Amino acid sequence: MTLQNVLPWIQQAHQQGYAIAAFNANTMEQMQAIVLGAQAENAPVIIQVSHRALQYVGGGDNRRGSEIRGLQYMAALGKVAAASVDVPVSLHLDHANENEVLQAIALGFTSVMFDGDYLPFAENIATTKRLCAIAHDAGVCMEAEIGEVPKPDGAAYDPNEIALTTPDEAETFVEATGIDILAIALGSVHGLKDKSVSLDLARLKDIRARLETPLVLHGSSGVNNEDIAEGIKHGLAKINIATQLSKAFTGAVREVLAADGELVDPRKYLGPGRAAQVEVVRERIRFVGAAGKA
Ligand SMILES: [Zn+2]
Repeated sequence: MTLQNVLPWIQQAHQQGYAIAAFNANTMEQMQAIVLGAQAENAPVIIQVSHRALQYVGGGDNRRGSEIRGLQYMAALGKVAAASVDVPVSLHLDHANENEVLQAIALGFTSVMFDGDYLPFAENIATTKRLCAIAHDAGVCMEAEIGEVPKPDGAAYDPNEIALTTPDEAETFVEATGIDILAIALGSVHGLKDKSVSLDLARLKDIRARLETPLVLHGSSGVNNEDIAEGIKHGLAKINIATQLSKAFTGAVREVLAADGELVDPRKYLGPGRAAQVEVVRERIRFVGAAGKA
């Protein structure tokens, strides 16, 4: 299929109490594993790319323009990946600035997230609203975030210092901007390797009571499964999964390389990495309840 705006599938999931999985891709093999896993489970799926993935794919450094080149690569790869399967596939740009959002829409991404976290609240609202109108004109799904899901990247962080989303600001933000899906902070953290974090489910229920908008969980790899499952019942309709995939991919690569110190052909270790990731994609799709929903 061509790339789809999967908002209708997210809305159905939200109404029926399951979720759509959104998986991060940093390489072609990871992107392939996402669509192959979705096809095997007959599930709608979201491929998402982060700012750092764009920098990596765009040249492996932070030179000017590397994000745009990365967007071009990912847009091209995403179109081929989507066309290789017959389940709905969305290509989503995660945590982007204004310029990246505009470029992604022009390049055929079907979903974007503007992250105006660095702006004062009123300015964040104004910019999000403006970009949301542009996205909607192009038939693109618009996500934004209120509250903080930290990205400590290995550094220490204080779980008590995380700015969790309040129902008031969530309601104000959605009404003022017109966004389709809202990422909220319930205590999760980006990049954790173990499922050690609990969610503030009471806060989720309070937010859900005020909003009809499907809600998004970032940092799910670090959250215990019971809380994710409970959160899905209470309005989390897009679950972002990154670290868990990379862990499976890299684990398989490490095993192959450890077993054969003479190996040089990248296909011989990237192939097993991709295969290991397909299994995690399938397991997470079944876990969020999206299997068979394409
Ligand atoms: Zn995120």
